[in-house]
Amino acid sequence: MGFFGGFKVTLQQMFKPRITNEYPIQKRPKPIRHHGRHVLNRYEDGMEKCIGCELCAGVCPARCIYVRGADNPPTDPVSPGERYGFVYEINYLRCIHCDLCVEACPTEAITESKLFEFSFTNRRDAIYTKDELVVGDDGRPRQQPWEDWREGDDVHTSAWMRATSPSGSAAYAGRALWSGELGYGVRAAEAGQSAAPDLIPPKDLGLVDGRGGHDDTEPGESGSDHDPDGSAHTAGGGSH
Ligand code: SF4
Ligand code: SF4
Repeated sequence: MGFFGGFKVTLQQMFKPRITNEYPIQKRPKPIRHHGRHVLNRYEDGMEKCIGCELCAGVCPARCIYVRGADNPPTDPVSPGERYGFVYEINYLRCIHCDLCVEACPTEAITESKLFEFSFTNRRDAIYTKDELVVGDDGRPRQQPWEDWREGDDVHTSAWMRATSPSGSAAYAGRALWSGELGYGVRAAEAGQSAAPDLIPPKDLGLVDGRGGHDDTEPGESGSDHDPDGSAHTAGGGSH
């Protein structure tokens, strides 16, 4: 490329239409799997999904989750299990939105909304407690005054569950492996590799071809250790 050839790229860009949005007045739609601020989900009957197991706190690389479990009151249980999350706090001055907590949770209690536009003027506001994190009676996130929610940010806050869901097993094609949820009910199963080709993104098709179908059956085994009739899966999740 000659001396002036280098200016060609610059000149081409100068006359292209501007694509800058008037952020934050205008916002682009966020991807379905966007990692925003968390919510603590509830079952369709209103009970909390969190059982206070502290797995999310244990896996968090930023050490920003603090959980204390307590026994459920026999006459007025908070969750379906023996225990529930008595204290639950996330420090958003430390969270890096890696979603390892979502992956670790055995009951799909913690997932993320698509909201990331929130700021704080004091440390106390940055530490979210159950009052802010547990979804409301309509199953949607409780919106705080300092959060900039836009249309769609609170839709399907748990539309994706975990990357380790066994959708790679053909035995699970078309099966929903998560429990009913307040506000959303039982969501449809994700389209797996057996879905119609026009529903699978091109890069996923490439992976299937490269792996020879991505069958997770071990050599010598007649089938998957996943139970196709779902008997090994509880109403509380257990899709691992
Ligand atoms: S998203 Fe990552 S950093 Fe944030 S609370 Fe969860 S595990 Fe911790
Ligand atoms: S959010 Fe999930 S992983 Fe964390 S304490 Fe509750 S049930 Fe356990």
